[in-house]
Amino acid sequence: MATETTEPVIKIRNLTKDFGTFAALSGISLDINLSEVVCIIGPSGSGKSTLLRCASFLEEYTSGEIEIEGRLLGYKRGAEGLVRESDQNIDSVRRNVGMVFQHFNLWPHMTVLDNVTLGLRLSKRAPAAKAKESGRRALAKVGLADFAERYPSQLSGGQQQRVGIARAVAMEPHVILFDEPTSALDPQLVGEVLDTMKQLAVEGITMVVVTHEMGFAAQVADRVVFMDRGKVIEQGPPAKLFNDPQSPRLREFLDTWRRRNMLFQSEPAAGQ
Ligand code: ADP
Ligand code: MG
Repeated sequence: MATETTEPVIKIRNLTKDFGTFAALSGISLDINLSEVVCIIGPSGSGKSTLLRCASFLEEYTSGEIEIEGRLLGYKRGAEGLVRESDQNIDSVRRNVGMVFQHFNLWPHMTVLDNVTLGLRLSKRAPAAKAKESGRRALAKVGLADFAERYPSQLSGGQQQRVGIARAVAMEPHVILFDEPTSALDPQLVGEVLDTMKQLAVEGITMVVVTHEMGFAAQVADRVVFMDRGKVIEQGPPAKLFNDPQSPRLREFLDTWRRRNMLFQSEPAAGQ
């Protein structure tokens, strides 16, 4: 069920996350609106995964606030600030946040369909038949209807990641967070996963995508967010961000990416 409100699906305010004395996130404020596709780019170690992990409460945050559809995630407001919520409440808030990981994290001993329906059966307590029906629908959506009874090892990396996406979709979340979904794939398998994600975007699913695929970001994102050293440095529509970067750090990041990409593109020619 989609929300009828215009409030952000995810609202992040002054978020910080420390690991010991190291500040991985230093005051992030970010809204993700309904049906928006937001791509997050930035150098390795800039806090992109940590941000997604906090927004799905796989990681507890140090300070600030995250609201999912108007409900505070992980904590409640007490007389003296935020107090940790019950696990039950946390689960009910983050139930609407789906996650797709870089390393698909499929169970090798379970069929594709069982992998996709596991969350439905465990956390949503769906009856087996209903879970299977939702699972098959999700697999059809990623073009893998015929692969339900196979095992992950019988699938290509691209297909395994599409199973990872189906697993998230089957839960009918209101937003899906993707953490470098194509970074572990051989280059020739990246396209099929990006195409699957494009299709979800067209259907209006709210998506946050951490990615190094600038072509995908340019084509699909409504907004691109550039992070560096635990902060949001710059954000805006892809055309603006890629063609007219304001901050020196983003300019440098894009220059490095372009240089690297030119090297890749010249490789086949050099081999001919
Ligand atoms: P990105 O996804 O942008 O590459 P991460 O969010 O994974 O960056 O990491 C941000 C910073 O936080 C890095 O310096 C990383 O080493 C550090 N970090 C991430 N997770 C942990 C952890 N569990 N313990 C200590 N440091 C961590
Ligand atoms: Mg990361």
